[in-house]
Amino acid sequence: MSEKTIPYKIYLSENEIPDKWYNVRADMKNKPAPLLDPGTGKPMTAEQLGVVFCEELVQQELNDTDAYIDIPQEIRDFYKMYRPAPLVRAYCLEKALGTPAKIYYKFEGNNISGSHKLNSAIAQAYYAKKQGLKGVTTETGAGQWGTALSMACAYLGLDCKVFMVKVSYEQKPFRREVMRTYGADVTPSPSMTTEVGRRILEAHPGTTGSLGCAISEAVEVATSNPGYRYVLGSVLNQVLLHQSVIGLEAKAALDKYGVKPDVIIGCAGGGSNLGGLISPFMGEKLRGEKDYQFIAVEPASCPSFTRGKFAYDFCDTGMICPLAKMYTLGSGFIPSANHAGGLRFHGMSPTLSQLYHDGLMEARAVEQTAVFAAAEQFARVEGILPAPESSHAIRVAIDEAIKCKETGEEKTILFGLTGTGYFDMVAYQKFNDHEMSDYIPTDEDLEQGFKGLPVVPGQE
Ligand SMILES: *Cc1c(COP(=O)(O)O)cnc(C)c1O
Repeated sequence: MSEKTIPYKIYLSENEIPDKWYNVRADMKNKPAPLLDPGTGKPMTAEQLGVVFCEELVQQELNDTDAYIDIPQEIRDFYKMYRPAPLVRAYCLEKALGTPAKIYYKFEGNNISGSHKLNSAIAQAYYAKKQGLKGVTTETGAGQWGTALSMACAYLGLDCKVFMVKVSYEQKPFRREVMRTYGADVTPSPSMTTEVGRRILEAHPGTTGSLGCAISEAVEVATSNPGYRYVLGSVLNQVLLHQSVIGLEAKAALDKYGVKPDVIIGCAGGGSNLGGLISPFMGEKLRGEKDYQFIAVEPASCPSFTRGKFAYDFCDTGMICPLAKMYTLGSGFIPSANHAGGLRFHGMSPTLSQLYHDGLMEARAVEQTAVFAAAEQFARVEGILPAPESSHAIRVAIDEAIKCKETGEEKTILFGLTGTGYFDMVAYQKFNDHEMSDYIPTDEDLEQGFKGLPVVPGQE
């Protein structure tokens, strides 16, 4: 098919929304390591996980064998509210860069959460409702996950308790207000409302919090209130599974026009959007059908892939969650307050960690001023004000396109544009006022975090 016939935006029709999620673990030779019970060092059983998580989600978490899992019709109907998400050819950006590269992005910002988070929020809320629960608890950092979950819970009539990292709670009052508009109960974390919160506050008075702290509080509330379970917006296998809808749609749209990406790029916080975007393409690579270059982009200030250790670690600061084997900076690592752009979690999806460890994908760390420069360049020609998180992917997509300009290669680049940045204007303001700086943790800083890694029998 000739180049000219490819539209700016490739839309799928409603009935092309996938009816199954794709589970990349089924095609992995080396499966992600199991979650461990921190007390015994033994793999967590479904029964143990069921105390914290919804039953059906536990099954998905532990399922390493089924490549496809049906998306319930109710969830597909909800997806129709804002999906399929457009796949956009960034013609204007290509022109501005003068690159022979072809750049595509999958835009996930077209819903209330302003991000891809709603794809998993509705699935998790649906299974909680189906189990007959009263409500769910969770943490949120920048606020997109809390917003997505609040909306999904409001839609299904579930109670929603959100622990919001204190620094964000104070810096993003509007994000908090959106959640409250959707009926959620929002508490700044660490708080005095939980035992673990009080313990953290005693040890670190005046702390502005972290995702790891907020997770501990949310888990405590879920496990100490009957009819509640805890849900998490990233990192877990089940979340990657739900987010595969991003990659499945992107692939279906590209396949329609016979386009095969050479490079696929995504930002990586806990790894859910990147995992979701690359899953179906990674499946082809794992099965030896096609080859792709995959690049995870993370902040230089929170560099779990590029400078972390591949080890069992806690997902939370309070050390009450199961241990996950992942690239991690240590559960005590708190990124510098100087860092503005999300992607602050100390660990990384166990699935992506295994793929990275096996050399199936690459990772790059980028500094925030370079990220905001890319965000502005993109906003000015493509007309979308990107989230700072998403702009990490934009940075590397632009870098790759500029490389193509130098070498004359006509590569096809696909990246995930995970969301919009309207609630991040304080960060944009800092950048525009030239008050933003870069902070890269020293090796000594990182050593502090590694010192807190748990000793697990059988691990070095
Ligand atoms: C949460 C979020 C991310 C990072 O989370 P992942 O789980 O790594 O995908 C990226 N972009 C936006 C807009 C987000 O809200």
